[in-house]
Amino acid sequence: MTVRERKRIEVLVETFVRKQLGLKSHTVTKVEETERYMIVHIDRLGRRLLRCGVCRQRCRKVHSVRKQREWRDLSMRKMPLKLRYRPRRVECPRCGLRVEDFPWADPWARVTTALSNAVARLARELSWQGTARQYGLNWKSVATIVKRAVAYGLAHRVRPPVHVIGIDEVSRRKGQVYLTVVYDLERRVLLWVGDDRTEEAVKPFFTKEMGARRCHTLRVICMDMWAAYANLVKEHAPQAQILFDRFHIVKHLNEAVEEVRRSEMRRLSQKEKVPFKRSRWLLLKNPWNLSNDQKERLSTLVQWNLPIVRAYYLKEAFQLFWLYRQPKRAGDHLEKWMRSAMRSRLEPFQKFVRMLRGHLDGILSWTKHRVSNGAVEGMNNKIKSISHRSFGFRTAENFIAAIYHCCARLPLPAER
Ligand SMILES: [Zn+2]
Repeated sequence: MTVRERKRIEVLVETFVRKQLGLKSHTVTKVEETERYMIVHIDRLGRRLLRCGVCRQRCRKVHSVRKQREWRDLSMRKMPLKLRYRPRRVECPRCGLRVEDFPWADPWARVTTALSNAVARLARELSWQGTARQYGLNWKSVATIVKRAVAYGLAHRVRPPVHVIGIDEVSRRKGQVYLTVVYDLERRVLLWVGDDRTEEAVKPFFTKEMGARRCHTLRVICMDMWAAYANLVKEHAPQAQILFDRFHIVKHLNEAVEEVRRSEMRRLSQKEKVPFKRSRWLLLKNPWNLSNDQKERLSTLVQWNLPIVRAYYLKEAFQLFWLYRQPKRAGDHLEKWMRSAMRSRLEPFQKFVRMLRGHLDGILSWTKHRVSNGAVEGMNNKIKSISHRSFGFRTAENFIAAIYHCCARLPLPAER
């Protein structure tokens, strides 16, 4: 290859990189290959006007040239790219003396917007550790990128009126620490995360995230009977109907069945226990999902033990409630069911009924609205998998950022 030919190829690479970066007031002077990096040297293009890094206003005067800075960029083939440039300080008519605006990166970022967006996109699928490995960065850089992306996304996301929301809790660190998550059940998107599950922790959702004006459009608020948010709803969205979440109610019902089974197991002798071994799922499963063998075992249980049978039939009878279309009939069914549960002499069920009695209005409103947090069950599972795949979330702050990042459909900064 002659010197001239080699020169021509280098120019092509530089033009290519300049076009890729979308440079207008800057240009690529040299592309240098070292053992580990491709280094792209950038300089100002002639006397083209630079923009203010704060307000992006064009500035006539360049004040000074600062020391060289470096930005990591996407890799070219296998080679990581680095941009090198000496930033100018400009005299902005509005802001005064400022560092210029970089078309390839945010003011304080040490990576280009193209790279940080690529990292952010991958971090929606992979753990932060895995994402870091993929891009040859460290965990902390990925954490910084994700948190910046979330801050940008929260400031720039669309906020259409919200009508139906679900409030739920998720645990961090095996049930020791809880967070509160709020979903828009119509759009099936995460709206907000609070760093505890107390009334105090959830209040900012109504006062800050929503604000008085947006609270007015809320129609239905879906939550667990045990949750402590009812007062907040009364205070900030009195027009909204509280609806106790179907899946939570069924969970409490299943807990009652399980409690009866466990106390019976304690009572039975070793020999009597045999058919009850591993009977937990048998009793909790929906009957139409049982195999023939399981059905047979279930009928043995039914013949043998009366408290377990009563618990089982009570559970099944309750479930009819969800099917009624007319509020009156649903109400009658529930009333009848509660009376028979009270007569059952099963303490866990009596406890369950007392809980229902205290929350009847929010339970009966199911028949009218027919929504539940089950609509966002997929997202709930996603949050669980986020907390499982990452050992890095020792702080609530990082976990919350990851939840927003994966579930809130936040926009990423535009690449210029
Ligand atoms: Zn300015």
